[in-house]
Amino acid sequence: MTITRTAIVTGAARGIGAAVAKRLAADGFAVAVADLDEAAGKPVVEEIENAGGRALAVGVDVGDEPAVRAAVERIAGELGEPTVLVNNAGIIRDNLLFKMTADDWDAVMNVHLRGSFLMARAVQGYMVKAGWGRIVNLSSTSALGNRGQANYAAAKAGLQGFTKTLAIELGKFGVTVNAVAPGFIETDMTAATAERIGVSFEQLKKDTVARIPVARTGLPADIAHAVAFFVSEGAGFVSGQVLYVAGGPTV
Ligand code: NAP
Repeated sequence: MTITRTAIVTGAARGIGAAVAKRLAADGFAVAVADLDEAAGKPVVEEIENAGGRALAVGVDVGDEPAVRAAVERIAGELGEPTVLVNNAGIIRDNLLFKMTADDWDAVMNVHLRGSFLMARAVQGYMVKAGWGRIVNLSSTSALGNRGQANYAAAKAGLQGFTKTLAIELGKFGVTVNAVAPGFIETDMTAATAERIGVSFEQLKKDTVARIPVARTGLPADIAHAVAFFVSEGAGFVSGQVLYVAGGPTV
């Protein structure tokens, strides 16, 4: 008998999260499409269902402790006890240090770090109980430093330490914890970057491609593929790793 495992993907209404949710559903997981706005996740759920999969749209702000607890309980009850968590929800509040407000700093820390912590803590009990689990955190090449992203770079580097620590703590319960660190991926987030720096998205893509060894920008499906590997049954001996998915080596 094959067990249907339940996965939670945060920030799954669009971009990378939506691609991850669809990929995990295609790989046989029941998927909770978690995002700030429940209605925004419904089209992704419909796509999954139309393709023969199982999914549930769930509204949750990952930085809100009671909301996280309630969302995870609801998912466990309506979809199945979650044993896969992909911490993908993210925001940017870019600015050079001298212009960055404390609110910009806090907002980014709240979603990426506090959000991943709250979600992982809420879900780990189900993983430990099952003796099996997979957590994948979305880091970024920005963890290595990126102009205008002091808050985001610190959060994404922080997620790497978080990943390694959870890998150490949870390994003996059959739970692996890894991070995927994307380079430039075509989503609303990178489109917003183009807008902020005052160039068209097409121009930003062209400029970026010139620096990428595989000579193309990344797509959400590229990241979904890497996440699917970490989540797979056969990846049980791979833990505490950070996989850069950036079309070339990072410097
Ligand atoms: P995106 O298109 O901006 O989508 C992010 C999603 O997260 C949105 O649906 C957003 O909801 C949701 N979200 C934001 N705050 C949330 C919260 N507090 N609780 C729940 N959901 C929340 O971003 P993306 O480009 O797909 O990025 C996904 C992840 O990959 C992020 O962690 C990002 O930092 C990382 N990443 C992206 C790139 C890239 O090039 N795109 C590169 C490296 C890393 P709303 O629509 O309601 O705001």
